[in-house]
Formats: sequence, structure tokens, C-alpha cells
Amino acid sequence: MTDGPRSDASENRERTTPEEAFSILGNELRVEILHELATEARSEETVAGGPGLTFSQLYERVDATNSSRFSYHLQKLTDTFVRETETGYKLTYAGDKIVRTILAGTYHERPEFEPVELDGMCPSCHETTLRATYEEESLVVRCTACELQLLSFLLSPAQARNRTPTEIMHSANRYVRDEYSMALDGVCSECLGRMTNRIRPGREPVPKTHLSVHSCEQCGYRVTAPVELCLVYHPAVVAFYWEHGTDIRDESFWKLFEYINSDRWRTECLSADPYEFRVTMTVGDDELRVEVDETLSVTSVRAVETRVINDETS
Ligand SMILES: [Zn+2]
Ligand SMILES: [Zn+2]
Repeated sequence: MTDGPRSDASENRERTTPEEAFSILGNELRVEILHELATEARSEETVAGGPGLTFSQLYERVDATNSSRFSYHLQKLTDTFVRETETGYKLTYAGDKIVRTILAGTYHERPEFEPVELDGMCPSCHETTLRATYEEESLVVRCTACELQLLSFLLSPAQARNRTPTEIMHSANRYVRDEYSMALDGVCSECLGRMTNRIRPGREPVPKTHLSVHSCEQCGYRVTAPVELCLVYHPAVVAFYWEHGTDIRDESFWKLFEYINSDRWRTECLSADPYEFRVTMTVGDDELRVEVDETLSVTSVRAVETRVINDETS
């Protein structure tokens, strides 16, 4: 398959300015119209987005005092949040996104989270009990001994709704795992824009580590992780642990800090320009040596059996 040129987003970006778009939403009836179009699009009977709602169907569903007032507000939404098709009115991409964000409670709810203790390992003091707490709108995993922060990300109200703290942490792990997998593939989990990475040495109190910082060229979203974490997605690593009775894909991200910071994994920085690392993983008598370059692509995999074979004559 041949590839086409990269699109220039600036050519079609200015349908309306962000300021204009948000000012359009400042009306109860307009938000109600968006909700009704979303409800229709998500009804189980609707196939592939469906035909949408006609002017009169939509008018009947909302609380409008008269049709000219309704028409005025619908017109305001049209193009930016609503599009008129031959079969009816439907949400645009922007309309769909805004309704989902409203339903997720982003603008009007505050998540609740009771602190929970987790097994893992602090990269600084090697304490194995960590604690997850809700701090300034973020879910933060810290060491219980030295307070070092291992993980932090914004907790959405939808994520906390109808879940116990343990279930929230399960969803959090799922999220960071998939988010990092996408970042490694150059895709931003927030906007799907292009992501690139750079490696930087760790800072106090863990100066010996190396971190990979992945940044989105579009929305500026950033994901940072120790370089070794890229390996938990590699088939040779998954197979190595699988053969030793562990599904490493099931280990939580905070538990993986125990792998990185104990003698289970030994990381050597082979070169700093360009960066190159070798990670030696040990299970029992077996070792797996994996090398990665600065884009975190695996360049070499070698399985080594280190068991000393007994000399039968001795
Ligand atoms: Zn610590
Ligand atoms: Zn992005």
C-alpha cells in the first residue's frame, strides 16, 4: 500500500475559533439539543450512526417554548456541533466529544477516592508498600516510607463512579498500560496526534535511572516512564515470563517497579549518544538479555541459560 502526503491540519482547522465554539454552548436549550442527538445516536436500534433526527422529531424531544426559538438555537449549533444531513440532524465530531465529556461528569462532578495500599517497590528506598491517594485532582501512587511519587495522572469522575478503590486502581492500571503502549507507537491517547520521545537521565533521588519522555505534537500531552517499561510489551519478554509461570501482562505498573528496581532486572546504559540500553532479566537460572535503542525499539534479544551443569565424573 502506498502512503500519501502528511495532511496540514491548519488548512481546515479554523471552522470556528475555540472562543466562539465555547460561547455557542452557553445556553441550556442548546446543551439539551446535543444530549437528545447523542441519545438518538446511541440508541440500541440505531445502526452506524442512524439517520439522525428531523427538525420536528428533535423539537418534540426538547423543552422549547416555540419553534422559532428552537430553530434559532439549533441554527447556532449547526456546523460546529451539529450537522444537517439529508435524513436529519446529527452530532459533528466536536458535538459528540462535548456530550461524552459532559456525560463523564468532567464539568460538574468531583471524583471520590479512599486511599489504598499497593504492593510494589520504591525506586529510591526499596520500600515495598506503596499508597495511592487522590491529590489535587490526580491519582498519585507514592512510597509509604519516603513519599517519592511513582505515578500520577488525572482521575476522571467517570472513572471513580460506581467503583471501589481497588476497582479504580485496576482501571488506572489498564489505562496507564494502554496509554504507554500507544505512546510507544507514537500515538497520543488523549487526541490521537503524533507523539515523539526523548530519553533523559533520572534526577535525585533516583539519578541512576533513565526516563523516556513521550510528548504529543498536537495537544502537548506527556507520558514519562522508566526506559525498561517498554519491554513488558515485547513478545520475547512476555514469552520468557510465561514459560516461567508468570503472565507479565497481568502485573500492575506499580508492581513492575519491583522488577526494575530489584535484581530481577539489571539495566546497563551501553551508550549515551545515541542512547542504547541492555536489560538483563533473571528468573531462577535463566536470563533474557534485551537491547533497545533510543526510540525504545528492541534491537537484540538473547536467551541465556546460566545453570552450572554438574560434572558427572566428579
Ligand atoms: Zn521510598
Ligand atoms: Zn495529544
